[in-house]
This record gives sequence, C-alpha cells and structure tokens, in this order.
Amino acid sequence: MTALTSEVLYRLSKSKLASFEHCPKRLWLQIHRREEARFDPDTLARFRIGHGVGAKAQQLVPDGIMVEAVPDIQAALERTASLLANEPSRPIFEATFQREDVLVRADILEPDGQGGWRAIEVKASTRVKPYQLADLATQVWVMQGCGVSVTGAFIRHLAESIMWTRPDMSAVRFRDTDVTLPIRRYLENRAAVAAAARKAIRGPEIELEMGRHCQSPFKCEFQEHCTKRRDLPLLAR
Ligand code: SF4
Repeated sequence: MTALTSEVLYRLSKSKLASFEHCPKRLWLQIHRREEARFDPDTLARFRIGHGVGAKAQQLVPDGIMVEAVPDIQAALERTASLLANEPSRPIFEATFQREDVLVRADILEPDGQGGWRAIEVKASTRVKPYQLADLATQVWVMQGCGVSVTGAFIRHLAESIMWTRPDMSAVRFRDTDVTLPIRRYLENRAAVAAAARKAIRGPEIELEMGRHCQSPFKCEFQEHCTKRRDLPLLAR
C-alpha cells in the first residue's frame, strides 16, 4: 500500500473530477499508478474520433481564437484572461481557467453579444448523457469562480451518428442542446465533489469492489489491475 503525504499537491481537472465521479479508485490509479492503464482498441478509436469531432467543431467557427498551452498552462491562463478582456466579440477555443486547484479548458467559449459568454462542450455522441452534464457543470463552476459571466451552457453533439470504424469527418453535422438549466443541480455540488476527490487522492489506494460501473459509462482502463488485485489475499494488498 502506498503511503502518501498531505503536502503533495495534485492539480485536479474536469476529466479528473469525471473520473472520480465514475469511480474514486479510477482517479486514484490515474494519479498514482498510470502505468497500470490498459486502453483497448475501441477506447483508442473513441479518443481518435473525439479529437476529430472536436477539430471539426472548431473549423465551423472560423473566427475562433485558439488558446495554446505554450510554453505551459500558466501561459494559457494568462492568454485566456487577455482574450476575455481584449477580444470580447471573438469565440475562444480551449479557454483555460483555474479555480483553487481545479483546471479546465473549455472547448468553445462564445460571446453572447451582451457581455456574457456561452460555454459549449463538443461531444461525439448523438444525445446528451448525464456525465456530460457533470463535465460541463465543472467547467462552468470554475469559470464562475474566475468571475466569468456564463449566461448559457450547451452540448454541441452529433446531429447523426457516424461510422466508428471509418468516420467521414466531412459529413459530420452538429446540433446544440441547451443544458443551462439541467446543469444547475450539478453546479451545486461541484465544490463538494472537488473536496472529496482531493481527499481521495491524498490517501492510500482505495479498495472498491468491481461491478457494472467498470464498463459503464466507459470501459475503465484499470480493469486488469483491479482484477489482479481482487484475486490477491487481503494481507498482500
Ligand atoms: S476497474 Fe472498476 S473498480 Fe477498478 S478503477 Fe476501474 S471502475 Fe474502479
């Protein structure tokens, strides 16, 4: 069992909070035992398609400005603050914000024309899923904590399904679903989720039974690790 000290600082992110909400042990493993992750071909294909769909969504917003995390994330935070102040009428890709130790990069931040911003999360699915609401709520919670006026939240998802084995990105079309109201209940518990995740990663490896959550909403990359560990006698863990 790995002993950890509370002095070690770990930065959280939208995807880390999503991992924690999926399974606290998964987040612990992503931070402390990344080398144990095993991604199957389906998952890797899903990542590739997600990147392609994200790039396509950006192409359809020609006046958007990309925030690069170069040379580091601090530069992205500063560039975002500068764009919000100096380019209030241009959409921003990967706008970067940090609230306490939680870092997020918003897929698309679009001016609402009245001094506020709409947060748009691009997803390679044809319908909105509950975990996507939690993801977007994390982003909005962080942005609000940074003083950004977020007046709307949208999932930009696929208007029609695509062929996962041979996706034709030129045929991809999007549809926006307004989730400004549905994310409210997730916004209320973001601080508590972040606090629980922080606590979990500073402790020893979490012992949790495997179950259906290992397959849904995603196939977890640590199934091999958890299966091996489940088969160990308690004293050997
Ligand atoms: S395999 Fe299951 S129990 Fe293990 S980290 Fe993944 S989701 Fe959690």
